[in-house]
Amino acid sequence: MANEPNATSRFAPRYSEIPTFMRTPLIRDPSKLDIALVGVPFDAGAENRPGQRHGPREIRNMSSLTRSIHHVTKINPYELCRIGDMGDVAFPCAFDLEKSHADITRFYATLREADVAPLSAGGDHSISLPILRAIAGRQPVGMVHIDAHTDTCDEELGSRFTHGTPFRRAVEEGLLDPKRVVQIGIRGAQNSEEGWVFSLDSGMRVIFIEEFSRLGVEAVIAEVRRSVGDCPTYVSFDIDSLDPAFAPGTGTPEVGGLTTIEAQGLLRGLRGLNLIGGDVVEVSPPFDSTGNTALVGATMMYEILCVVADAVSQRKGTSK
Ligand code: MN
Ligand code: MN
Repeated sequence: MANEPNATSRFAPRYSEIPTFMRTPLIRDPSKLDIALVGVPFDAGAENRPGQRHGPREIRNMSSLTRSIHHVTKINPYELCRIGDMGDVAFPCAFDLEKSHADITRFYATLREADVAPLSAGGDHSISLPILRAIAGRQPVGMVHIDAHTDTCDEELGSRFTHGTPFRRAVEEGLLDPKRVVQIGIRGAQNSEEGWVFSLDSGMRVIFIEEFSRLGVEAVIAEVRRSVGDCPTYVSFDIDSLDPAFAPGTGTPEVGGLTTIEAQGLLRGLRGLNLIGGDVVEVSPPFDSTGNTALVGATMMYEILCVVADAVSQRKGTSK
C-alpha cells in the first residue's frame, strides 16, 4: 500500500521544492490517506512564552532532513501506509481560543470519518484537547504523554483551556481513560501541587524524571505496555520533555530532562501498541535560535510516524 509521492517528491534534492512534512505530497483529500501529517499553528493557549504558532512551518522545513528507513527498526512508514501532508488547520477566529479549538475538532473529525490516523505538529499543548474531542468521540482512549508537565491543572489566568489544562479536561469529558494514561518525564517546581494530585488521584501512571532515570528506558516501556495494554492509544510529545540543552526553543523549558536518544528509545518502544495517532507540540521557533529544536521536533515526529504506520498497517492488513 505504499504511496510514492507525486507532486512534491521525497526524492527531489532536499533544499528544493515547497517544504511539506517529511517531503510527503500535499494531499487535502483524506480518502487518499492512511496517515495525515497536519500543522496546527496556534498558540493562544500558551501562558508565558508563545511562538508555537510558528512551529509547523519550521518543523516542515527541518523535516526535509528525515529519510525513509528507520536505522533500528527498519520500518519504512512510506511503504506501509499512504502518508501525506494535509496542510494546516485554518483559524478564521484566531483571537478566540474556544472557537479555534472548535475549528481544530472539526478538521480532525473529517479524518476520523475517513479512518485516517493524524500525526500533528503544534502549536501549544492546548491543541491536544480538541484533537482528542474528534478522535476519541466513541470511547475514551489511552495516552502516552511525554512532557515535563502533567498539563492537568484546572485553570490558568481564568481560562480552563490553556496548554496547562488539556488532559484534566480530557478526563472530565470522558475522552481519556486515566487508568490507561502514562505521563513520562514530569519535573520542575510548581506553585501548586494540584496538577500532580489530579493526575495521581485520577489513576494516571505518573513517571517523574527521577523515576525514569532510576528505571531506565526499557523498564519504562514495560510500564507503558502494562498500563495501556491493547487500548487505542494516542501519543502526545511535548518538546519540553527534553532537556533544554537539546530543545531550548520552547515555552516552558525545565532543566534536568530527557536526552534525545532516551526519547527516541521510548518512542521506538511503543511499537506494537494499538496507536491511533499523535502530536509533537510546544516547539517555539522565536526561542529556537539555532533551529535545533525544530529539527528535534521533526525527528520525534518521524519516530512517532514509524510506530503509528506500523500499527495502522497491522490494523488495515496492509503490512508487507
Ligand atoms: Mn505540555
Ligand atoms: Mn510541558
